[in-house]
Amino acid sequence: NKTVDIIGAGLAGSEAALQLAQRGVHVRLFEMRPQVKTPVHKTDGCAELVCSNSLKSMKPQSAAGMLKSELKALGSNLIGFAYDSKVDAGGALAVDRDEFSRLTTEAVRNHPLIEYVVGEVAEPDFTDGADAVVLASGPLTSDALAAWVSEKTGSENMAFYDAAAPIVMADSLNMDVLFRQSRYEDEAPGDYLNAPFTREQYDAFIDELVAADRVIRRDFETKDLFQACQPIEEIARKGHDAPRFGTCKPVGLTDPATGRRPWAAVQLRAENAQNTAYNLVGFQTNLTFPEQKRVFSMIPGLENAEFVRYGVMHRNTFIQAPGLVERSLRLKVETPAPVFVAGQLSGTEGYCEAIMSGLMCALNVYALLNGIEMPAMPETTAFGSLLAYATDPQTEDYQPMHVNFGILPPLEHHERNKKLRYEQYAQRGGQAMEAYVEKLRESGLMERVHV
Ligand code: FAD
Repeated sequence: NKTVDIIGAGLAGSEAALQLAQRGVHVRLFEMRPQVKTPVHKTDGCAELVCSNSLKSMKPQSAAGMLKSELKALGSNLIGFAYDSKVDAGGALAVDRDEFSRLTTEAVRNHPLIEYVVGEVAEPDFTDGADAVVLASGPLTSDALAAWVSEKTGSENMAFYDAAAPIVMADSLNMDVLFRQSRYEDEAPGDYLNAPFTREQYDAFIDELVAADRVIRRDFETKDLFQACQPIEEIARKGHDAPRFGTCKPVGLTDPATGRRPWAAVQLRAENAQNTAYNLVGFQTNLTFPEQKRVFSMIPGLENAEFVRYGVMHRNTFIQAPGLVERSLRLKVETPAPVFVAGQLSGTEGYCEAIMSGLMCALNVYALLNGIEMPAMPETTAFGSLLAYATDPQTEDYQPMHVNFGILPPLEHHERNKKLRYEQYAQRGGQAMEAYVEKLRESGLMERVHV
């Protein structure tokens, strides 16, 4: 029997442990809580959701919905527990977080092939007979383990803080309101989109911004980070007009709709060469995700904005996946036994993404240990496109990312109608997924050894 050590019983680690154990692999699952706490986890249960209880949209024609179908097709345990603990939330899959964690903990703790070990792992122990190691210690990886990973990968390849502004889908923006213009002559005119505020709109926006719910209020997180990089709501709290003299200054801008300089403006900068996604310049934020959606949708032109990723400001340990992580989620480092990464540490962002990366990591580990060639996940699937993007050595300045339509390969025939285009993405991905599952089945990777 093979043995795999998994570090971290979060979303990725719990899914990976169950998948491997279900295939007859002996798993040692190490979890430091409750012995060592993280700044945000509150319980000692497996797969604790640290913030929102939403696993996002179930709509089949959305990237999040596609990911859910893919999880189901591959037999994810945790997505099953999520549906079993579902609470009403319109089109989103929201869960009772205690029940979700309880179901996961029960499955993990009761599995005869999973040995659950409470304690912090400062570095993998390559003398304990493990055939492979999976690092699934998440965005709040303990300092000691982060230092080990950092040393192995080169410290410049680890990020410890994530201060990212939200990113929105280009085709969800109202181009009747936004205008393309640069503030300064040396910037190409097409570099920025501008969202112009009237005085009344600006005042209403700032009032909501300073009153909105934030994720982390404790000092420990904010001290170091916020000196270097202030969240937009903190800037606004210091002075109602402070953003208007900073990142939202209207200098150099003329709104073509009025022929005048707006009272203030939010600038949006293209995220990629195809201009399919834009980030809100200077809008690093600590607001909760639902509050970001509510408050930032007040920005003129962003009424219906779809967020590819929300802004975050928190301790966030992740490996610069491009260049360091293989498509199989194996870490490109020299170690006595192969080391894989899963979850946020591997450079994905989001609950379902963490679950899927735990699942895919487990399949890859199982394939490697059993001499099976692992077929690559098609890039037309939601998660396959994220894997391809995150592990492409050409990807520069990588930030952990949710699945999104912006990174899917374009359709053979461009469909201008957004709704139809999304339907086609979902249909194409669904077909690719069916074929993929069939391939896995032929390789013996879908057969589970039930113990
Ligand atoms: P986790 O679920 O955090 O699991 C990692 C586990 O490893 C933890 O249980 C931890 O205790 C353990 N561990 C760490 N170090 C060690 C060690 N050395 N030894 C043993 N055990 C260790 N995503 C969303 O989709 N929606 C959100 O609302 C959301 N909010 C977030 C808020 C914050 C503050 C953070 C930090 C992240 C948030 N994310 C959110 C992003 C991400 O999806 C989640 O963090 C997700 O839980 C990541 O899954 P994971 O399995 O990689 O890590």
